[in-house]
Amino acid sequence: MYHETILIIEDDVQISSFIRYALELEGFKAEEAPDAETAMKKILSDQIDLLLLDLGLPDMDGMELLKEVRKWSEMPIIIVSARDQDQEKVNALDAGADDYLTKPFSAAELLARIRVAVRHSNKMNREPAPVFLENKDLKMDLEKHLVYKKGEELHVTRKEYDLLLLFMENLGKVLTYGFILKKLYGKNYGSDTQALRALMAGLRRKIEDNPAKPEYFLTEIGIGYRMLEK
Ligand code: CA
Repeated sequence: MYHETILIIEDDVQISSFIRYALELEGFKAEEAPDAETAMKKILSDQIDLLLLDLGLPDMDGMELLKEVRKWSEMPIIIVSARDQDQEKVNALDAGADDYLTKPFSAAELLARIRVAVRHSNKMNREPAPVFLENKDLKMDLEKHLVYKKGEELHVTRKEYDLLLLFMENLGKVLTYGFILKKLYGKNYGSDTQALRALMAGLRRKIEDNPAKPEYFLTEIGIGYRMLEK
């Protein structure tokens, strides 16, 4: 059972009911809003923990609603959209969406993404700053700035460490090239995705047993990368 309440912002009644059914079956509480205005009222007055947001709403573009909510809330927001353009995904993720699901999708996939988002936000809210971060065979010691795989120390550069830390703090989430570059190189990063690709290749060589069959890092072509979690 979960204690989270999820708001489904979707004007297609069939999709909305399908999602609600899947969520309730899984033990979540669910509410529905067919447009942005109703959604905003519910977000402001009810105890909502996570948003599933359709971009094509009758009264407002979902992107605008996303930006509005992000001004004052860190709640997880997963975009659920028929728009399949890479640029749309990049824009949504850069505007603060936690994830992006393209219609049609399966209930299993939706629930998996929701579990990641919920787990991530619970960690952010409740746990004190950790000293160690772990995922699969990897362990980061944040005090000593060391990285271990199966207990063996990995020698990583400063930038590789920063990049890995970003992934470990955002397990399961897609990180866009723009987001990563901004975090690693600050505001004036330009659009040097070439440098990022090289950095990523170096990190993969050190971490993946077989870079052709990645167990840690997935490339979301044209968008960015996602670190798989256990
Ligand atoms: Ca719609």
